[in-house]
Amino acid sequence: MEDDRTGMSLETLKRAFADHLFYLQGKDASSADLADYYSALAYTVRDRLLHRWLATQEVYACKAVKRVCYLSAEFLMGRHLGNSLINLNLFEKIDQAIRESGLELQDLLSEEEDPGLGNGGLGRLAACFLDSLATLEIPAIGYGIRYEFGIFYQQIRDGWQVEIPDQWLRLGNVWELPRREEAVEIKLGGYTEGYHDPKGNYRVSWVADRIILAVPYDTPVPGYDTNVVNILRLWKAEAGDEFNFDAFNAGNYDRAVADKMSSENISKVLYPNDNTPQGRTLRLEQQYFFVSASLQDMIRKHLALNPTLDNFQDSFAIQLNDTHPTVAIPELMRLLVDEHAMDWDAAWSITNRTFAYTNHTLMPEALERWPVRLLGPTLPRILEIIYEINHRFLEDVRSWYPGDEARLSRLSIIEEEPEKSVRMAYLACIGSHAINGVAALHTELLKRDTLHDFYELWPEKFFNKTNGVTPRRWILLSNPQLAALFTEKIGKKWLSNLDELKQLEPCAEDPEFRSRWQAIKLHNKQVLAEKIYERTGIEVDPHSLFDIQVKRIHEYKRQHLAVLHIIALYNQIKANPGINIQPRTFIFAGKAAPGYYQAKLIIKLINAVGTIVNRDPDVRGRLKVVFLPNFSVSLAQYIYPAADLSEQISTAGKEASGTGNMKFSMSGALTIGTLDGANIEIREEVHPENFFLFGLTAEEVAALKDKGYRPRDYYNSNAQLKEVIDQIANGTFSPSEPDLFKPITDSLLQQDDYMLLADYQAYVECQDEVSKAYRDQDNWTRMSILNSVRTGKFSSDRTIAEYAKEIWKVDPVEVPLEVYDPANAGLGWGKTCDID
Ligand SMILES: *Cc1c(COP(=O)(O)O)cnc(C)c1O
Repeated sequence: MEDDRTGMSLETLKRAFADHLFYLQGKDASSADLADYYSALAYTVRDRLLHRWLATQEVYACKAVKRVCYLSAEFLMGRHLGNSLINLNLFEKIDQAIRESGLELQDLLSEEEDPGLGNGGLGRLAACFLDSLATLEIPAIGYGIRYEFGIFYQQIRDGWQVEIPDQWLRLGNVWELPRREEAVEIKLGGYTEGYHDPKGNYRVSWVADRIILAVPYDTPVPGYDTNVVNILRLWKAEAGDEFNFDAFNAGNYDRAVADKMSSENISKVLYPNDNTPQGRTLRLEQQYFFVSASLQDMIRKHLALNPTLDNFQDSFAIQLNDTHPTVAIPELMRLLVDEHAMDWDAAWSITNRTFAYTNHTLMPEALERWPVRLLGPTLPRILEIIYEINHRFLEDVRSWYPGDEARLSRLSIIEEEPEKSVRMAYLACIGSHAINGVAALHTELLKRDTLHDFYELWPEKFFNKTNGVTPRRWILLSNPQLAALFTEKIGKKWLSNLDELKQLEPCAEDPEFRSRWQAIKLHNKQVLAEKIYERTGIEVDPHSLFDIQVKRIHEYKRQHLAVLHIIALYNQIKANPGINIQPRTFIFAGKAAPGYYQAKLIIKLINAVGTIVNRDPDVRGRLKVVFLPNFSVSLAQYIYPAADLSEQISTAGKEASGTGNMKFSMSGALTIGTLDGANIEIREEVHPENFFLFGLTAEEVAALKDKGYRPRDYYNSNAQLKEVIDQIANGTFSPSEPDLFKPITDSLLQQDDYMLLADYQAYVECQDEVSKAYRDQDNWTRMSILNSVRTGKFSSDRTIAEYAKEIWKVDPVEVPLEVYDPANAGLGWGKTCDID
């Protein structure tokens, strides 16, 4: 008989499911609820991952392979169960097994808490990368923080965002395994002192005043159609026992309790800011906490297989996802020099060969700077090491550019004004052998502006790695009918090589294929319409054009530009109720940082305009405005596949890449967008005639700023725009509080940092083109098909293959089936390294 924990037959799966319900949940059919059934199924699937997990880790250790360590303060993984079913190729069989047990698989999948351990694009990128790393069989570990509270749950009350704590661990988490035996200690606070070691060398030791325990929790990351299961290792903060017992034994119970609470605070909650750093000590502690724990973990793994740390760079390639983990650079120096007695130059060479840095933003206010006043007391030894790195670096610069004092102060890691601070991006550039942007334009702007001086020093360090997304989650799991159509036509190989979809280009000319394509899109729109009704009570027409903007709410992303257009359309209808306009449903979703008032006011504005427009009998269902609460990966999986039009309308030069733009396009949405981030490359791939382009270019934005941008000129010379702005300002959409939206209109008329008014006319004219194009459904469908089948470049498999080859220099490692043959299981299993 097949093994209950590894067998893949229908009968075994059904038996294992029933067993787990009984023995792990302690329930039977008469007492179980959906959450119990979910857990029983999740354990059934986890069993099947565990064999592959252990086998993979054994192969990695035995072969002493080089591993990629992806350091990220955020991982926005999305629900695990559906993805695991897909990657294990178990989806259909489990679907059948669950149906034959009298249940619906979708109901069980929806029971899983969505682990929201990230804010938006940056965290989701990390998750797509882990999927691609495992799929490409690249040995990798994701390192991050096990936040007890992830990104807040967003409710909308009276049109305003309300933040509710995200208690995602309340019912436990099937997918993680704690590894208490691998906990490490983290120092904080205190002071440093010099001493001479027995050999007479001067050395420094850090006398901390707090020791925190970092406890790892491991989550399996299975690749698609491979035996590889990599690990996501997230650290939880706990009080260091010894330390607390000291205080306790000294009779200071209050102090012991306070220390315990403050220690556990470190991994308590994700900071909900996106693209705006918050200079709080706790945030700095979070960064240092997970980075130090991860490096200590790597050093232990390395020393288990090697006599010294001299070849550390052959064991690990560390990627810094933005500057959040940059303190890893001085921390590795500290571990090598202070704790492992290596000399500085040797340690620096290892550090430099190990690290690579990904920049995610050009906006100066979004670049992390840590005030010395805050860094010094929290991480005294780290600050000394940063000063030493800077000192040696500036000596080099001095020798390369004698007498160029201006350059020295431009390049210094330490910024003096307005407050003495550490520029984390500079530290990352100096300590890494590779620096990359996340789309072609972004990388060019880094080289030209933001990091220009570093580009002059080290042009060979700069790379572009255009972002990507995983087609497993973003096509197969979220758009199953489209995936089935692809597979019917060209087999399954597109799932691991998305360029294969190109073969389908001729289908755009096939009327039968087009009508199937339309039917799938309509189905996805109907499913989303039901979600919208469930969650907002608004009825929308699936035959209207679904015009969607979902992403974090931020002024640079310009959700309010879309609102200006909606109001202009509304005014046209009011002025001429018989007018023939393309019916549209405008769908928004996204969270605002709780402290970002202007962004929260934009949410309120969207809802206020919706309230007026949706109820107006003159509009008669031609326009609907919907704000879907709590944008998250699980909600996103319903949204992208249902879009006709994808709004990617950031001010040119502000969006580093975007990945939402790619997910929309893959599911056949057409884009209305600016020449920003990856939009440029999407337009190139799908061809310009299948993309609605508008707006200033990054150069034009900069030139207009230079010559003196006057938003009021646009307002005064455009009657339609003036009417819209005046209505927002005079309370048309907030009759009980006429001044409510003044902060938005004041900002637009006075500074308009993101140049909405300059781009307004081009935007509404482009939207008219969209409406015209949508009327020709044959041609729209043709364009939709070509968008989707030409997105091969935007698979994260392509991105990861480039990082692996050009930056990490790592090779795939196969995990042979025999390693997890259940016949080999038992106590002897895993003890040998006799794999070739
Ligand atoms: C893809 C994604 C994002 C990023 O969207 P952009 O449009 O690139 O800003 C943010 N949040 C979630 C949940 C996503 O899936």
